[in-house]
Amino acid sequence: MDLYEYQAKQLFGSHGVPVTDGHVCVTPEEARSAAQAIAAPVVVKAQVKTGGRGKAGGVKLADSPDDAFAKAQGILGLDIKGHVVRRLLVTPATDIAEEYYVSFLLDRANRSFLAMASVEGGMDIEEVAATKPEALAKIRVDALDGVSPAKAREIVTAAKFPEAIAAPVADILVSLWDVMVGEDATLVEVNPLVLTPTGEVLALDGKVTLDGNAGYRHPHHADLVDREATDPIELRAQELDLNYVKLDGDVGIIGNGAGLVMSTLDVVAYAGEEFGGVRPANFLDIGGGASADVMANGLDIVLNDPDVQAVFVNVFGGITACDAVASGILQGLQVLEQRGVASTKPIVCRIDGNNAEEGRRILTEAHHPLIELVETMDDAARRVAELAAAAKAGK
Ligand code: GDP
Ligand code: MN
Repeated sequence: MDLYEYQAKQLFGSHGVPVTDGHVCVTPEEARSAAQAIAAPVVVKAQVKTGGRGKAGGVKLADSPDDAFAKAQGILGLDIKGHVVRRLLVTPATDIAEEYYVSFLLDRANRSFLAMASVEGGMDIEEVAATKPEALAKIRVDALDGVSPAKAREIVTAAKFPEAIAAPVADILVSLWDVMVGEDATLVEVNPLVLTPTGEVLALDGKVTLDGNAGYRHPHHADLVDREATDPIELRAQELDLNYVKLDGDVGIIGNGAGLVMSTLDVVAYAGEEFGGVRPANFLDIGGGASADVMANGLDIVLNDPDVQAVFVNVFGGITACDAVASGILQGLQVLEQRGVASTKPIVCRIDGNNAEEGRRILTEAHHPLIELVETMDDAARRVAELAAAAKAGK
């Protein structure tokens, strides 16, 4: 999960990284009040989860509360690389003498962590990396050793920070590493880290990516989820503990096992080409168990997606044999009827694996009006694409 700048800086503050105070605002009036409270020139900053806000006009200085109102009015609603600005951060304007860059990231290729630092920070670090790679120091950080004061010094020296600020920058690096480990982040980036004319060093911007798989260790990270910006179906799926990702197609997909679901997405996209570009509408892995309740929840989520025209249930029976899965599908549909969310969308089922014969018999003999049983995965993909295309054409 990527965080907003204001959230990243809150985490920074709680781990001892110096940051400026900020006020999160959603209206120009709030921005004016925030500037009044700060009683000094402020910066009005778009809060969107993408970089390059400055260049896109999403970061503006304001020298009075009325100016903050005007700047906020200009920034709210801006579209920055496909992200519409709904929130602002109003923070005291900092005088800048120098702009630096520091980050830690998970370096998957090298199975390690990487520190990057440069004294040429600011808005164009990508350009520095591309045209002047020697100005961007890259230091491997061992996962077990982490960033000790000595390691921080090594980074500071490699990036050629001025000796006068080596100590505060090293302290900040140690604290940022504390954010990385303490919050289970995969990225912590500060651009710019600034030196003020009075010799202070502080983080003016912040980017943090948290590792969702470690969420169970950080109950408070749930508060960082931007519910407004999350797809409502994904939110419900999370509440039901389902492994669901919304996609932009028309065929609802339910399968057991991430690998099978991934390949199901592929075969549906492939088969869909023949029918005017029908595509999968979601990824949904209901896992090994596939009990009636889980199947009901899965069907509930997928059938209630207005984009879904037809559903493909692709299950390979393993420990949970196909007869149990077949009963699960039927019971799942019953549960939905009881919940009053019956659907009319066709459901193509392909079930194979442990006890497939019995599973197919159960589905065939049920004569459920929505269920169509197809023997192979490819044929089922073709059929569901055809049904989805027909449903779309009928609208
Ligand atoms: P980004 O463009 O999305 O990375 O947004 P930043 O928060 O990094 O801001 C972009 C640029 O705006 C920075 O590199 C600074 O040059 C400038 N800026 C941001 N905050 C301040 C501030 O408090 N004072 C001054 N003078 N400039 C600022
Ligand atoms: Mn920045």
